[in-house]
Amino acid sequence: MPAFQEYFDQSHQLVRDSVRRFVEREILPHVADWEEAESFPRELYLKAGAAGILGIGYPEQFGGSHEGDLFAKVAASEELMRCGSGGLVAGLGSLDIGLPPILKWARPEVRDRVVPQVLSGEKICALAVTEPSGGSDVASLKTRAVRDGDFYRVTGSKTFITSGVRADYYTVAVRTGGDGFGGVSLLLIEKGTPGFTVGRQLKKMGWWASDTAELFFDDCKVPVDNLIGVENMGFAGIMANFQSERLALAIMANMTAELALEESLSWARQREAFGKPIGKFQVLKHRLAEMATQLEVSREFTYRQAAKMAAGKSVIKEISMAKNFATDIADRIVYDAVQVAGGMGYMRESLVERLYRDNRILSIGGGTREVMNEIISKQMGL
Ligand SMILES: Cc1cc2nc3c(=O)[nH]c(=O)nc-3n(C[C@H](O)[C@H](O)[C@H](O)COP(=O)(O)OP(=O)(O)OC[C@H]3O[C@@H](n4cnc5c(N)ncnc54)[C@H](O)[C@@H]3O)c2cc1C
Repeated sequence: MPAFQEYFDQSHQLVRDSVRRFVEREILPHVADWEEAESFPRELYLKAGAAGILGIGYPEQFGGSHEGDLFAKVAASEELMRCGSGGLVAGLGSLDIGLPPILKWARPEVRDRVVPQVLSGEKICALAVTEPSGGSDVASLKTRAVRDGDFYRVTGSKTFITSGVRADYYTVAVRTGGDGFGGVSLLLIEKGTPGFTVGRQLKKMGWWASDTAELFFDDCKVPVDNLIGVENMGFAGIMANFQSERLALAIMANMTAELALEESLSWARQREAFGKPIGKFQVLKHRLAEMATQLEVSREFTYRQAAKMAAGKSVIKEISMAKNFATDIADRIVYDAVQVAGGMGYMRESLVERLYRDNRILSIGGGTREVMNEIISKQMGL
């Protein structure tokens, strides 16, 4: 890929090739069935773990590789998206939002037990911040954890949690202190802890292959050793975590747009109307040219922010811009892709139908478009 040489080197190409082979071998033959079944086999985590995919970007001592190499992660994420199911990618990748706080701030004995199990695919990790009363206003979360000797007693609930049904480890945002962001902590809560129950798998517009669930904590006793980081300092950890999640969501949006564009180009070449391929009509040629232009600009901007992140620069404003820009562009491109495909674009057997549905979540999850604009305007001094 010569156009991307300034971001990706030979080692990233190797990552790309190996993830692409994995997707072709293990996912693509089954993905349509898994989407319809609203689930994919748990065994896929083990296979992705054994292929080294789950560990990309994590320390070798825990079974990872390419630690700190952000573009290896970008390359892997892009290739995973080639399976065409955002839900599968979100489900398989829920470790990337649940695990980083454990890796960075959990007690060493907890970290050393949990991280290798998740990177090998033996256990599944999820992040639980959003509550039924709201997700945007994280500082107002209500799930309460009260210290009682060597335990916290946790009461409250979470919702819309990706991998919520079948995760083993949950990084849960709780209130240990007073009101506002200064009273928030992160706790590792394990499946099977008395007082912790998982609700039903929620039905969704898109991301069908991912499981999304409600979680309930009823006087749930969590060992104090499961505190992640310092008590009442969890908010900063959640915000730091959001930066990489927003980059990941921008990459997902760009890849969704890429797949939609590829489908449109192929359809425009083969589908005929009025005696010629529809791609020969100027109105469609221009639409495809605009889709390609928008995607190119979005991808370059996202890569640029990733490069700055990789160099250790703060890109709070820019990563919010990248997420909004990429998800907006992808929304437009998937809309156009369905239009180019005509009636076939509305059929479940067509990839663009799924891309159209799947993309809708990307400007909501990981911070809504409006929340991104709040961050951007705050950074502008407004
Ligand atoms: C498929 C799916 C998977 C998810 N996975 C996870 C997960 O794994 N873990 C997790 O913790 N959460 C997850 N979420 C939750 C997601 O992060 C939240 O839905 C999101 O943050 C928005 O919160 P909310 O739904 O409560 O909307 P609300 O916060 O209630 O917002 C409703 C509307 O009000 C707007 N709004 C809110 N505040 C402002 C403001 N200050 N200015 C202007 N407008 C505002 C919002 O932009 C939105 O349009 C997931 C959600 C979905 C749908």
